[in-house]
Amino acid sequence: MKMQEKNLQRNRLILQISFMTLFVLAPVLDIFRIDLNLGHGILLGQNWTLGIDDFIQGKADINNAVFNIIVKGFIPLFGGGALFLWVAWRFGRLYCGWLCPHFFVVEMINGLMIRASGKPSIWEKKALPEKQPDGHIQKPRSVYWLWTILAVVGFAFLWAVALLTYLLPPAEIYGNLFSFNLTRNQSFFISVATILFCIEFTFARHLFCRFACAVGLFQSLVWMANPRAMVVGFNRDRAAECRDCNNACDNACPMRLKPRTLKRKMFTCTECAQCISACVQVQKAKSLPTLLQWVDKDCALPVVTGREQKKQKDCFENGGDY
Ligand code: SF4
Ligand code: SF4
Repeated sequence: MKMQEKNLQRNRLILQISFMTLFVLAPVLDIFRIDLNLGHGILLGQNWTLGIDDFIQGKADINNAVFNIIVKGFIPLFGGGALFLWVAWRFGRLYCGWLCPHFFVVEMINGLMIRASGKPSIWEKKALPEKQPDGHIQKPRSVYWLWTILAVVGFAFLWAVALLTYLLPPAEIYGNLFSFNLTRNQSFFISVATILFCIEFTFARHLFCRFACAVGLFQSLVWMANPRAMVVGFNRDRAAECRDCNNACDNACPMRLKPRTLKRKMFTCTECAQCISACVQVQKAKSLPTLLQWVDKDCALPVVTGREQKKQKDCFENGGDY
């Protein structure tokens, strides 16, 4: 698959910010929330209830109840789930890399930690090279620790408040918050959730994406089941050109993967294309096309024999038009 997009990372950032905004505003705009006071959900401004209470109280007949369960329960849940998994089967963890608010936070904090210490996480053993894919030198500056801490606490607090508005009326939560009048339980929820998110964002954000997130795990599993799914492909025919590069693609990967390796070793790849963008920049200085690009269908199959390598060369023939 040849990617024509010129401003891939900029467009991805716009989508991530838009989805993050939607995540925070969905309860406020009554797009989606579960109101514990009312005892049912709100979807697109409408009460989202299966009508079981009406049936039990004799206000609705059995046909009505079955209709409600199918139309308001099974179809949205299973239809939405099937569509989501089909996208993952065909394109991998696109949701993670392009929309997920958690991955947005992962990338933001990685970026700030790199600016502060040269390392994308406190668990990284060695600092990344100061030379960036476009050739400029970026030296760590400890002042960025302040921005890192502010980002961790800020996102953690925002997430804690947003989550509470998914459960209780947003007008009440924001009203109480801005008038410093939160109830004891509301203050407790926001404080505990903020502390837990701070810990997770600081120490375990990659671990969560890799091993703890069910949404990510299911996408990875169905993606692995399709050998022809879209994947980051490496042009092995030109592998020698990596010799004068500082592994810019590995350094750029927010999930700390090795993008030139086999698909099964990239189980948690989020299709963010940071590795591709890095190689585009490295090769641009030499007026050459990238060695990494998205491939799919037959081009995504593992390369083992010489014939397959020749075929892969054809897949990359016109690559690099980014
Ligand atoms: S694939 Fe590209 S970015 Fe990665 S090491 Fe080779 S030249 Fe560098
Ligand atoms: S391997 Fe490339 S596309 Fe996959 S997560 Fe890493 S940088 Fe993103």
